[in-house]
This record gives sequence, C-alpha cells and structure tokens, in this order.
Amino acid sequence: MKAAVVVENGKDLEVKDVEVPKPKNNEVLIEIEACGVCHTDLHCKIGDWPVKPDLPVIPGHEGVGKIIELGSNVTNHKVGDRVGLPWLYKACGDCEFCLNGQETLCPYQLNGGYSANGAFAEYAVAPADYAIQIPEGVDSAEIAPVLCAGVTTYKAWKVSGAKPGDWVAIYGIGGLGHLGLQYAKAMGYKVVAVDIQDSKLDFAKKLGADHTVNSKKVDPVEDIKNVTGNGVQASMSVAVNKTAFEQAYHSVKRGGSVVFVALPNEDMPLPIFDTVLNGVSVKGSIVGTRKDQQEALQFAADGKIKTEFKTDKLENINDIFTKMENGEIEGRIVLEF
Ligand code: NAD
Ligand code: ZN
Ligand code: ZN
Repeated sequence: MKAAVVVENGKDLEVKDVEVPKPKNNEVLIEIEACGVCHTDLHCKIGDWPVKPDLPVIPGHEGVGKIIELGSNVTNHKVGDRVGLPWLYKACGDCEFCLNGQETLCPYQLNGGYSANGAFAEYAVAPADYAIQIPEGVDSAEIAPVLCAGVTTYKAWKVSGAKPGDWVAIYGIGGLGHLGLQYAKAMGYKVVAVDIQDSKLDFAKKLGADHTVNSKKVDPVEDIKNVTGNGVQASMSVAVNKTAFEQAYHSVKRGGSVVFVALPNEDMPLPIFDTVLNGVSVKGSIVGTRKDQQEALQFAADGKIKTEFKTDKLENINDIFTKMENGEIEGRIVLEF
C-alpha cells in the first residue's frame, strides 16, 4: 500500500510502498477514504515536542474509511462499517483516568500517527474499541477533520465552563480554529476571532464571528475589553505561538478561564497576583473522549458545523506542510484516497 512515512525528524516525509498491516484479534483493518492534515502531523514531522514520535511512523489521526477485515475477537463493528481513526488510538481502559471518564489522560495511551501508525496510508489498523463509528449521510472528507480539529475545540469549550450568551475569544482561525468558532456559535456564545491574517478574519466573519481582530495590527486585549465591556468569559489559543497564549490569558474577565490547546514547545510567564485576585482559571485540554467524539460528530451530522476543506493527494504531503508552516491553508486540507 502507499503511505507517507516520517523516517527522520526534520526531513521530508517519504511516500512509499509499505506492507498492508494485519489486524490483531482486537483490531480492525480500515480502507482509508480520507484523512485531514493536522498541525500535530507537522509537529510529528519536525519533532519539536518534548515527547517524540516513535519513528518510523505513518502520521494522520483524522482518518475515515470502511472496515474491510475484523480481528477474531471483534464484535462491536462489522465489515463495511465506516469508522474514524483518531488521536486517542488506544487507552488502557483500566487506570483511574480511564475508569472515571478521562481516557484522554490515560498514561498508557497510544496516539494515532505518533506512537502508532495513522491514516496517511491506503490502509490502517485500529483497535476496535477505539475506532469511532461515523454517522450516516456525511461525506468522509468533510467529516474527517471533526475527528481531531472538531472534537478538540468542542471539548475545550466544555472544559472552559462558558455558558450560552457569554463572550468567548478564539486565537488562531486555522484547522482547529475554524471549527472551534462554529462550535462556539452552535453552543450559544458570542465570539471574538483573532488571527494575524486578514484573510482568516474575513473567513471567520463568514463563519459567524461576532467580532474579529488582527492581532498584528491592533492590541487584541484592549480591543476585546472595549467590545465586551470587561473581557471574555473564556478564551482559547489554537495558535502555535506563545504570544497568542499570553493575549488569550489577558483577554478573560474576572472569574473567567483560558484554555490551552495549541502545542508550541514554549513556556509563558503567568502573573500570580492577577490570577489570584481575578480568580482566573488556566486549563489544558487534550482532544476528546469517545463520548465527546460522538457529540462532536453529531453537531456535524446535524449540519450545525461545516468543515471548510480542500482535498489533495498523499503525494503532495510535503507541499501541504510547507503551506501549513506559512499559514496559507484556509480550514483544512484533507487527503483523499
Ligand atoms: P493551523 O496551522 O491550521 O492553524 C493555526 C492558525 O493560527 C493559523 O490560522 C494562523 O494564521 C494562526 N496564528 C498564527 N500565529 C498567530 C497569532 N500570534 N495569533 C493568532 N493567530 C495566529 O493549525 P491547527 O491544525 O489548527 O493546530 C493548531 C495547534 O493545535 C497545533 O499546535 C496542534 O498540534 C495543536 N493541537 C492540539 C490538540 C489538543 O488536543 N490540545 C489537538 C489538535 C491540535
Ligand atoms: Zn490533530
Ligand atoms: Zn488508562
């Protein structure tokens, strides 16, 4: 089968023929139809995170396809089912986090396209219990980005504790941000969209942003305070940039919360005094559980959020990463097979 492989960090991916994987007893074999390209795949290529990928690895954790073979113990899927291969490739199912509904915090988890082979390939295996059932009647390429970009931002808003009617701010209107903005609207928030490119902000307006700010031209914190009165109830940074995190922190009002989602390998100073006196919560949020996935997918199946995407070919993966590094992608690029 054809696959794109990270062989060495910092080098281009190799698109080559590799053997079709065999499903183990508790796994399914999926014929991949579509897979979104996430900025996390670019981190996997570069190797800039403290936790390194297990190389060589096939990236891709927004994979959608049909099951063509079942391992001997699999009973929860059948051949022909359409499933998703997500970042939470597998968790242990037994630790305190798995048992209390926080499976994305499982210390023993494997991650699709990072510590286990993902879906930048014609075929992939996935543990049957963690392969996500895709709702009927949705296009595979269109739904693929929901498996990471969608569920991650949906979950982050849940973690933020914002309520319908609240003002929220989202920094970075890229793959995650353009879905996060739509979930925010669907969840009843008033939304400020922040990016450093006017084209992304025009796009944000089309998606329903109530206010937009170009943080290269205007101080977003001051602007947000002017527009909302005293700041937003919750903010989220999905921009791979420390400055955006600092601005997201300073955008929230007293009692508000800031959710860290993007993953630049950087530290930021946190003002202790202001955090205490203003009762600000700083939270991290990582993808979503299988239950979050079902909910996030249902929003898409109900037409409440819509992925903006362009399809491309596996062979062009290195050019796609160049475009991503230059911030030239509107919404998501989805590989089609
Ligand atoms: P992307 O490249 O599609 O989008 C990034 C966006 O940020 C672009 O629109 C860019 O113009 C904008 N941007 C850059 N600098 C900015 C700044 N200073 N202020 C405001 N906007 C700015 O990336 P993506 O696929 O959306 O992923 C974003 C990040 O989220 C990556 O680090 C990825 O690894 C991480 N991620 C985290 C999780 C999680 O579970 N926490 C899940 C998926 C991805
Ligand atoms: Zn992702
Ligand atoms: Zn566990």
